[in-house]
Amino acid sequence: MRHLLVFLLSVLSLIAADNPQPCPFCEIVAGTRPAAVVYRDPTVMAFLSIGPRNPGHVLVIPVQHAENFLTLPPATARELIAVAQRIATAIKRTDLQAEGIQLQMNTGKAAGQTVFHAHLHVIPRFAGEPEPRSEKDRATLAELEPIAAKIRAKLQ
Ligand code: AMP
Ligand code: ZN
Repeated sequence: MRHLLVFLLSVLSLIAADNPQPCPFCEIVAGTRPAAVVYRDPTVMAFLSIGPRNPGHVLVIPVQHAENFLTLPPATARELIAVAQRIATAIKRTDLQAEGIQLQMNTGKAAGQTVFHAHLHVIPRFAGEPEPRSEKDRATLAELEPIAAKIRAKLQ
């Protein structure tokens, strides 16, 4: 029985090695995973987080997969910042009434990175706001899409 279990575990780990988990953000880039898209050009894409800290929480990502900030080509990092600045400006122009904007790029598991495709968070913030919603509080695409449309409409 024990040998059978060891055998099954070995087979499962071989299958897992041959089929690594697809990168969710590469799937969004490829259009095989839905997202509330805010912006796209050949280098950079931006969409709403499904676990938003606040409404209008955007993730700005490189189109080309890079695991995190440390492996991001510097020219692409500059593009991400430039797009994040345009998106932050657009957020401020909407009626989301953000009082502040937080930029955040978690790099490595110890720093809170959970998706290993580099992403820059652009988060609307408010004075004295309550504790963040749990990451398990997922927003639906139906909730996110009207907010993405508001930000897209204010992008220049
Ligand atoms: P981090 O903890 O810095 O790696 O942030 C990961 C972010 O990606 C969180 O804001 C998640 O809610 C968000 N996220 C995870 N999966 C998706 C997805 N499929 N579409 C949009 N946002 C996602
Ligand atoms: Zn990826």
